[in-house]
Amino acid sequence: MSMNRHPPRPLIEAPLQFRTSSGGERAKHNALITCPKCDAPCFIRRSVRVTERVKHIDAHCTNTGCAHTFGLELVFRHSYNPGLIDRPDLDLPVCPRDQVPHVMPPTRDAPDDPDQMTMFDPG
Ligand SMILES: [Zn+2]
Repeated sequence: MSMNRHPPRPLIEAPLQFRTSSGGERAKHNALITCPKCDAPCFIRRSVRVTERVKHIDAHCTNTGCAHTFGLELVFRHSYNPGLIDRPDLDLPVCPRDQVPHVMPPTRDAPDDPDQMTMFDPG
């Protein structure tokens, strides 16, 4: 069985989402993007991949009293683990080993970690 049947791509594809249900602080912590003016969670309206390392995102504040729309730039920072695919052409910086965060999987009974950013809602 060849390992190169498919081009490199993410193993998991899932729609970006966040909880819009009530929840003030919680929604704010779980949102990928918060409004810089009012701290409310924001919808992503559109995203455009500019380069392998940069993505531009158009966002829309969910606070009807604000309604701010704005553009963001999502920039690759560094690899924690360079992974299994060689792309020397990208020249991606690697995080110093002593600065790599140790993020443990959530346990079943543990309360939600308010500092844990949720991009994918497991349902
Ligand atoms: Zn806002």
